[in-house]
Amino acid sequence: MTLPTEPIGSIPRPLRLIEAVATADGTDPRLAPLYEEAVRDTIERFEATGSPVITDGEQRKYHNFWTYCVHGLPNTDPDGFKIPFPAGHTRRMPRLTGGPFRYQRYADSYLDVALRYARKPVKQAVISPSALSLMYPADAIPGYSREQFIQDLLHEHETEVRNCLRMGAHKVQIDFTEGRLAVKIDPSGHLLHSFIDLNNLALARFSDQDRQRLGVHTCPGGDLDSTHSAEIDYAELLPSLFELKVGSFYIALAGEKDRVRVLKIIRDHVKAGQRVFVGVVAPIDPRVETPEEIRDRALEAAEYIPPDQLGTTDDCGFSPFCDDTSTTRDKAFAKIHARVLGTALASEKLGIG
Ligand SMILES: [Zn+2]
Repeated sequence: MTLPTEPIGSIPRPLRLIEAVATADGTDPRLAPLYEEAVRDTIERFEATGSPVITDGEQRKYHNFWTYCVHGLPNTDPDGFKIPFPAGHTRRMPRLTGGPFRYQRYADSYLDVALRYARKPVKQAVISPSALSLMYPADAIPGYSREQFIQDLLHEHETEVRNCLRMGAHKVQIDFTEGRLAVKIDPSGHLLHSFIDLNNLALARFSDQDRQRLGVHTCPGGDLDSTHSAEIDYAELLPSLFELKVGSFYIALAGEKDRVRVLKIIRDHVKAGQRVFVGVVAPIDPRVETPEEIRDRALEAAEYIPPDQLGTTDDCGFSPFCDDTSTTRDKAFAKIHARVLGTALASEKLGIG
């Protein structure tokens, strides 16, 4: 037994796959062998890091963690919600043009493939209802109200999560990277609260037992070594975040300027029965952390969070958008290996090794 440690999700795709996807649609059947090979290799290398919980590296999530389930829907246009990054680039999501809203694919289709190769527990990340709610345009769609859309969205999300749980996901992690972004877009906090309420409407459909296997991930949104909302104070987000009815929280921390301040906010707001996986690895830092650094970050967190409510994770996925080559596969796995070793060192120090 050690402190639990889990990844977030994505691993950079093999360059061969990235190049092939750039010249074909992600759904092109000719890509199938490349995807298959990428998943097999990712799982093999993930297990070799010693990580007790793995993912499929999101190799098949075309083209990112945010819109994989709606990519290719006929009732959308490409000119939807924009996320600007300070590095100068913008990511954009599709805009819904008509109802009814249905997913094009569910994340359990990825899990199904991963479980064929994996020998260790596999977690599956899914996108939050709040992120997808941004697909509905500001001007209502004639004949398909926002209320109808929300009901359809909740139904689709619930279906996806239930399928993953039933299939045996170790955890289902709901990616909520737009939480911090919401405070940037609307400093009044109104948008954030509407996001929390919407996600809790979805979570209310699950039993307490199921919710113990559900988690939520927050971060400043890493992409191409840049972040979309790091300047937003966690104090604006974390108290609301812990209102979400899930058992696990995966909170980016390694890349924060003042980790102790964030840990104090966590200490003051975490509730009984919630486990906080703090980020001890920074994917956007080009340097590979040493196990001793990881150990010290985990021990620092243990000063504020009781060990029975603590775990470690990476700050974010290593390539949330599939064309991101800012980190190599080798480096991602080296960082994960350091997390595993450092977490074991911390566990030993805490007397739970
Ligand atoms: Zn993230």
